[in-house]
Amino acid sequence: MRIHSVELIPLRLPLVTPWHTIGGELNDRDVLLVHIETDGADGWGECAAFSTPFYSPEFVESALIVLRDRLAPLLTAASAVTSSGLSELFAPVAGHRMAKSALEMAVLDAELRTEGRSFAEFLGSERTVVPAGVAVGFQDSPSALVDAVAGYAAAGYRRVKLKVEQGRDLDHIEAVREQFPALSLQVDANGAYGRDDLGHLARFDGFGLSLIEQPLDAEDLVGHAAVAERLATPICLDESLVSLHSVETALALGACDVVNLKPGRVGGYHEAKRIHDWCVERSIPLWCGGMLETGLARAANIALASLPGFTLTGDLSGSDRFFRDDIITEPITVVNGELAVPTGAGFGVELDLDAIKHHRLG
Ligand code: MG
Repeated sequence: MRIHSVELIPLRLPLVTPWHTIGGELNDRDVLLVHIETDGADGWGECAAFSTPFYSPEFVESALIVLRDRLAPLLTAASAVTSSGLSELFAPVAGHRMAKSALEMAVLDAELRTEGRSFAEFLGSERTVVPAGVAVGFQDSPSALVDAVAGYAAAGYRRVKLKVEQGRDLDHIEAVREQFPALSLQVDANGAYGRDDLGHLARFDGFGLSLIEQPLDAEDLVGHAAVAERLATPICLDESLVSLHSVETALALGACDVVNLKPGRVGGYHEAKRIHDWCVERSIPLWCGGMLETGLARAANIALASLPGFTLTGDLSGSDRFFRDDIITEPITVVNGELAVPTGAGFGVELDLDAIKHHRLG
């Protein structure tokens, strides 16, 4: 396939409620879309980076520069492009995985639309629905958190993830667990704790959590191995896992029992599929993490999460979880606690061009 043009579209989408997480507080979701024109169908991609680099080194403006000045020129200069060949094409650019993933998405979408195939069909998945899960940001008090969780439980979400940090952990988790004794519950620390906190973290074992996500710094795999040794609750990694190699390393060190897979973080859906297959061979449980995606990447993630290795419920919620006005024409909705795997060509959603125009920055 030949790529004729790459258009970068920065958007600012208002969030339904502010999102409070470690080191970050968002009232809007700034997101960078990629639109490509090819000699076949057009394709759309979405960059997972946030407006500020609180989650990882990448942010919207850095991604925009790398895409505009480094990656897009490589793509348009190539005489023939395939989504599976992009990691080699982009090899001259180190890192910047979220930027690369956004372009890979657009090429993959264009390829599949040209062939008239859905992403789920391409992946070889057979499930038609996946369970819906939700991540709940920090709330002002344990009772406010219980109220927020109650709303999602009533909306049919089957698993809830809570953000935790020192001072907003034990009493918050305890309040939710007391109110919802049977709820599938997990927590995410986004690296908020240190090696000195092992005794404190061990107290999490009393809450029947399905896992603790990224308790320590992303680079501290040895520290995570010590946490895994001390705690009965499974340890899941997020920020630490940026490639199949880093997944292999974390597992070899005993730093990780469960993998949170985010395609943007690992450079795209092809690498995500390789990690999935590697984990399936070794019976390592997976789930699909969320980055406050629009309906575009959400649709792609739902298809990914329909693969058999995703044995745990992911951060996969309906469009209305984050956005009053999403950029896809048909909202993604939770029905009986489940989300339908898209069946249309490409990622199976149509972009709402008026909404994109309305929310476009610059
Ligand atoms: Mg996380």
